[in-house]
Amino acid sequence: MIQNLEKIRKKIHKQISEEIKVSEQNGCVLLEGELSDWHSIVNAGTLAVDKQSLGVLNDIKLKGFFEEEKKPDVEDGLYDGLTPDVLIIGAGIVGCAIARELSKYKLDVMLADKGYDVALAASSRNDGDIHVGIDLKASQQKHYYNDRGNRLYDKLSEELDCAFHRTGHMIIFYKKWEKYVIFPLIKLKSKMLGIPGLRYLNKKNLQKTEPGAPSWAVGGVFMPTGGEISPYKFTVALAENAAANGVNVCLNTIIKGIDVENGEIKSVRTNRGMVYPKLVVNAAGVFSDRIAEMAGDRTFTIHPRKGTNLILDKKCKAYAATSMNKSPFTKFADEKQKIDDKGKHTKGGGIVHTVDNNVLVGPTAVETPFREDNSTDKQSVDFIYGKLSRVAEKMCYGDIITYFSGTRAATYEEDFVVRKGIFTRNIIEAAGIQSPGLTAAPAIAEDVAKWAAELLGNVEPNDSFNPLRKGIPHLADMNEEQRNVFIKKNPAYGEIICRCEEISRGEIIDALNSPVPVYTLDAIKRRARPGMGRCQGGFCSPLVMKILAEYKGVPIEQITKADDGSAVLFGDTKGGCNE
Ligand SMILES: Cc1cc2nc3c(=O)[nH]c(=O)nc-3n(C[C@H](O)[C@H](O)[C@H](O)COP(=O)(O)OP(=O)(O)OC[C@H]3O[C@@H](n4cnc5c(N)ncnc54)[C@H](O)[C@@H]3O)c2cc1C
Repeated sequence: MIQNLEKIRKKIHKQISEEIKVSEQNGCVLLEGELSDWHSIVNAGTLAVDKQSLGVLNDIKLKGFFEEEKKPDVEDGLYDGLTPDVLIIGAGIVGCAIARELSKYKLDVMLADKGYDVALAASSRNDGDIHVGIDLKASQQKHYYNDRGNRLYDKLSEELDCAFHRTGHMIIFYKKWEKYVIFPLIKLKSKMLGIPGLRYLNKKNLQKTEPGAPSWAVGGVFMPTGGEISPYKFTVALAENAAANGVNVCLNTIIKGIDVENGEIKSVRTNRGMVYPKLVVNAAGVFSDRIAEMAGDRTFTIHPRKGTNLILDKKCKAYAATSMNKSPFTKFADEKQKIDDKGKHTKGGGIVHTVDNNVLVGPTAVETPFREDNSTDKQSVDFIYGKLSRVAEKMCYGDIITYFSGTRAATYEEDFVVRKGIFTRNIIEAAGIQSPGLTAAPAIAEDVAKWAAELLGNVEPNDSFNPLRKGIPHLADMNEEQRNVFIKKNPAYGEIICRCEEISRGEIIDALNSPVPVYTLDAIKRRARPGMGRCQGGFCSPLVMKILAEYKGVPIEQITKADDGSAVLFGDTKGGCNE
């Protein structure tokens, strides 16, 4: 019984609309009705948060709104009748980390994703910050998993042969008083949260540690536990290592329905047949509330929050050595806070020096009814540029080589939902994983795998588990002597395909040999980075397509950029390409 229900009803009727029905369902606050404005729907959900309830079920409809969910084109019986011990739904960083963790046991694990590759949603559309977690609250799951996840990255990145740079993160101060008022508060909070090593840097030391710091900076807080990783490469690495250890990675596989009897999942309907798992793990990102609903275990609602980032040319790498942003208390007189929800729900990002030596600038945080709209728009780009050119003072529009957006799976409680099933026995929720989900994923995976083993019972360790995975060598980072060793072994490493990123044919073939099937241009891009440079694939795409077609033994016309709808049309297959 939610004692505050009447209070919540009154608040929502007064502030939003009397048309909203507010009731209790399974210990949650249920909101129903229809409104014509998305922000009012989100505000109603926020007003319904209550400590006594299990969560908010916000089923208020947006008048006239419909978003067709992306679905794979294929319908066959490829997986019909499979009986995995565990079915993981979603192959983002969370699902892939869980799959790898579960492969440490002798279990039949199926990792299903509706996309044509792993890491297609938020897990490839983020800043790559391994967060310090200074903005989190001690009571949040976000803090618990961020703290543990952050610490796991050194070992994991080594095992999976993935570049990880513990550059540290920086908060820049504009006014001297911030040192005396804000720094002690941040320091105190870091102690309460168990974040080690924070220190104040005066202007001189700040410039030494962060030569890209703006001229107006009077000092800053250096947080040494912050780091950077390539989120898509790391997700691919987790999936590859899981696959090498026996996990069945099933792409183009959408979960359409879940059959539950007496609080237990009996079968799961997919576009590739009926599957009968003993246990289901829900790691479906922005769709995790829908999966929980199908499984009769929903206690939360996802309200998608979109973020846009700019990618700057590698020539701008000196703009930041760390991941830096101005203090949230620093406001310039002419600063506008129009589109990013007053910065309340972004961990900062700011100016990020990526492991691939690009600079990321952003992200925004915009509430949207769309779960899968990753489009970019001028307003967001101008907003980020206007706000963060104060921090990266040398930045100019010509530095931007491209933009991208991703969508965070925010819940109204603004926390993760990582737990065993409440109403359904054989499900584990790894849901609502918004920022800092990249950082937290390895720790979430440890708990989920432990709970899965407990729920399944009598699970033996997989003695042949191999934690090591070899990444694709990146010849551009090597000296001449090292390159020659590779080229001697395999002359394909000597043939440059992508001139901007200096990626060789050998690296692309390595990407194609991934234990997780690679079908598209973008899947190769996520593994070896051809097309990630200044020309954005203008020169190398036709060559990469040719290599891919030869490797697969299919006509080049069948090669797509991303999913089935993204055919690339040709004028001249030897060179030019009309997309
Ligand atoms: C702009 C932005 C910046 C961010 N920056 C950072 C950062 O710097 N550091 C950090 O720690 N975190 C960051 N985050 C958060 C982080 O990206 C996410 O928390 C994390 O990627 C979530 O991973 P996931 O696996 O839960 O979800 P996702 O990566 O979204 O994966 C979910 C998967 O489920 C699949 N799926 C959904 N429904 C179905 C279905 N019915 N059947 C089959 N498959 C299904 C989808 O296809 C998808 O691949 C950022 C997020 C955004 C958007």
